[in-house]
Amino acid sequence: MAKKSVKKAASVRSAKGRSAKGQAGKGAKTSRYVYFFGSGKADGDRSMRDTLGGKGAGLAEMTNAGLPVPPGFTISTAACTIYYEQKGKIPAGIDQEMLANLKKLEAATKASFGSSANPLLVSVRSGAKFSMPGMMDTILNLGLNDTTVEAMKAKTRNGRFAYDSYRRFIQMYGNVVLEIGKDEFEHELTAVKKAHGVTQDPDLTEDALRQVVDRYKGVVRKHTKKDFPQDPLEQLRGARDAVFRSWQNPRAKEYRRIYTIPDHIGTAVNVQAMVFGNTGERSGTGVGFTRNPATGAKEFYGEFLINAQGEDVVAGIRTPRPITDLEKVMPKAYQQLRTITSRLERHYKDVQDFEFTIQDESLYMLQTRNGKRTGYAAVVIATDLVAEKLITPKDAVLQVEPEALSQLLSPIFDPKEWKGIEVATKGLPASPGAASGQVVFTADHAVEWSKQGKEVLLVRKETVPDDIHGMFVAQGILTATGGMTSHAAVVGRQMGKPSVVGAGSLVIDEHAKTVKVGSHQLKEGDWLSFDGLTGEVKVGKVATKPSEIIQVVNGEMKGESSDIFRRFNQMLTWADSFRRLGIRANADQPDQAEIAYGFGARGIGLCRTEHMFFGEGRIPIVQKMILADNEKDRRKALDELLPLQRADFHGVFKAMKGTPVTIRTIDPPLHEFLPKREDLMVDIARMEATHQGGPALDEKKRLLHRVEQLHEFNPMLGHRGVRLGITYPEITEMQARAILEAACDVTKEGGKAVPEIMIPLVGDVKELADQKAVVDRVAAQVMKERGVTVKYLVGTMIEVPRGALMADQIAREAEFFSFGTNDLTQLTYGFSRDDIGKFLGAYQERKILAKDPFASLDTEGVGALVEIGTKKGRATKPNLKIGICGEHGGDPASVHFFHKVGFDYVSCSPYRVPVARMAAAQAALQEKGKA
Ligand code: PEP
Ligand code: MG
Repeated sequence: MAKKSVKKAASVRSAKGRSAKGQAGKGAKTSRYVYFFGSGKADGDRSMRDTLGGKGAGLAEMTNAGLPVPPGFTISTAACTIYYEQKGKIPAGIDQEMLANLKKLEAATKASFGSSANPLLVSVRSGAKFSMPGMMDTILNLGLNDTTVEAMKAKTRNGRFAYDSYRRFIQMYGNVVLEIGKDEFEHELTAVKKAHGVTQDPDLTEDALRQVVDRYKGVVRKHTKKDFPQDPLEQLRGARDAVFRSWQNPRAKEYRRIYTIPDHIGTAVNVQAMVFGNTGERSGTGVGFTRNPATGAKEFYGEFLINAQGEDVVAGIRTPRPITDLEKVMPKAYQQLRTITSRLERHYKDVQDFEFTIQDESLYMLQTRNGKRTGYAAVVIATDLVAEKLITPKDAVLQVEPEALSQLLSPIFDPKEWKGIEVATKGLPASPGAASGQVVFTADHAVEWSKQGKEVLLVRKETVPDDIHGMFVAQGILTATGGMTSHAAVVGRQMGKPSVVGAGSLVIDEHAKTVKVGSHQLKEGDWLSFDGLTGEVKVGKVATKPSEIIQVVNGEMKGESSDIFRRFNQMLTWADSFRRLGIRANADQPDQAEIAYGFGARGIGLCRTEHMFFGEGRIPIVQKMILADNEKDRRKALDELLPLQRADFHGVFKAMKGTPVTIRTIDPPLHEFLPKREDLMVDIARMEATHQGGPALDEKKRLLHRVEQLHEFNPMLGHRGVRLGITYPEITEMQARAILEAACDVTKEGGKAVPEIMIPLVGDVKELADQKAVVDRVAAQVMKERGVTVKYLVGTMIEVPRGALMADQIAREAEFFSFGTNDLTQLTYGFSRDDIGKFLGAYQERKILAKDPFASLDTEGVGALVEIGTKKGRATKPNLKIGICGEHGGDPASVHFFHKVGFDYVSCSPYRVPVARMAAAQAALQEKGKA
């Protein structure tokens, strides 16, 4: 959900950001930066997350709902923006506003800052629009000083509590505001514990805690050359500014990068009257969820500690107890907590993640927000909430992040086991899923070893098309180079195979059969594991199992017997009822087409025929075709390929049950089908050295000669795509014949085939006209020979910029367009899709690119070409069918864009089909919501 809402937020906030700047610049007095909540009434509410942050909006909403929330005020995110614009200063106007609200807080609590009778103590917490758990800073017990600590002692008749609170405050303030290392304080605390012969913090007496306070003050003096600030107002200003600063700390920045949270939105600061979980055995603090965030199960879930403050629960010093134990310890507070949190869940219509404190058996709510959850839990929760009539199917579709569905398809590691192993290196998370296997370095070895029943991980610098057999048998694919649309990534996703690519720190020596993974040196056969969802690579064997959904789609399990499949299917059926975009899949083989259909694809948007050339026993025939130096020999080889391709197409048509199948004529440069020049030279030298002459040597030399002839300096811009069909029309002829013969045969058998023949890399209408004439001629011949008529279309890919710019002309010849956004991105940016891994990291670090443009469409640049191509194409043919078959077809943000532009369908890898179905439904619903 984060991703989706973040996008929306970016535009909202940038508008606000600008206005905040304008106001600050002019020193406008009318704008408000501080919002009060308390005594059953708040200035804000849940709709104000942009201004108040998630925590602030939640506190306001809970206050308005009459829940027990300690009073306080929220300093807005706009103040954070101004703090940065003013180079770390808060203007006097905002400071005044804060002081006015502090007065209100004093009145509400009947306590005052610095009072020696009834001192006001507050917490100061961060809270951005999107929750960033633990990334920013918090300070508790602010307002304590040498006077107020005594007042607290007198008031509570609990000196131990007063001094424990004071030492905690100095420690937090010292660390967060004065930037003194945590260790410095820990060191002193340990020394005092040792001196008093105790191991646990709660065992320290008041006297011991006084000593800790003195020692902590010493630490502060040593580091700042000043005494610990005694003025509560100075403390408050210091804490407020430090929380604003923590927005830019390295871990918060990294978190925002990972979850694409915009940098400019800033955090709010919440100042709230303290309640104490550490006053004794009748107090405590805890966190929880209204349902299990890992499994979605409807159970009260969480942890608490008796006699503790919030940070103790997360710090891991003491082991918290399961929240259900609270029922035994404090039954009244427990019941009240259950009632309030169920009410909150009903109010927000979603699982709540909450924080609470119990002071002397009185419960206080400190936070509530929609809980983060795994993909699995997201689906379980959404379907349950609909069953409970808390939300509608439409709400459920909007609530589940499309990516959650892809998590459900992946094989899984046992989370406990996985967490316990250190990360050896990281790469790009190209295809989700857990993979564990013995390292092999070649596709042939992968096949050989798997035939022996071994589980293997194919580890390569990069994969090439003829690694396909090895990729197929491997548990997963790990490469050192390449980006999100590199061969390994595309094929990995298409196969639903876990893949991590571009793990730049891998040092692979294919000859010595070794790989260095972080600090570990592995050899062939050693066990390695990775998680394709996070890109983490770890050394060793970790057990995995296929997801139930895959088992159902593969026919190994009945849908009815899997609860998660039933829910998954339900979600997608709802999604289908809302979406406008059609969903197709990119699949090259009948078995892939079957899976795609099983996942709900109703059409193939791209069948890459050249992938069929790598099927068993076919490469030598393809090589014969390429090596032929005259048309006659080439046709002979093509005649051998014809029945093989026909059989494949026949299978794909059958699998797709009469839905459209877009088949693309040959696309890659021919040398991809031949051995590498260097390998041939080595072979020839070895044969010559060992005096192995004869026809074998001649054959190698002929091959080398042809490889050298075919060598190109820029193969991606070279003799490929439609250019191959134009120079060797007999290849297009053979492919058109195979497609139409298969379609005729399926028709004759009583089935239905809807072929759409697609010409790649067209930039000029004359290229398309040339190839269309070939296809139409062959089609007429085949239908005559077979005695059946089949309706077919001839269209083109729009994947070179000129194709998009000249789309009005091209549409004269094309019966459909399919945008090839992989090549279109490559050619628009001039970034090689296979080499972007080398500089993408640096580009992202320097914020030149926010995301990988091969994974998520650059809607501004490449998107402009897509819009131009669509408009121009439809200017010529208003009903022109338009789709997309680049990798972006499975990316939710890109799917939204294609919906908006008015495409008819998106096509993606079979395993991304569920994600695309959900994203298409959300795009349609959000559009309606705006209208
Ligand atoms: C594309 O370029 O977007 C496309 C789908 O074709 P390929 O990835 O095969 O070049
Ligand atoms: Mg392409």
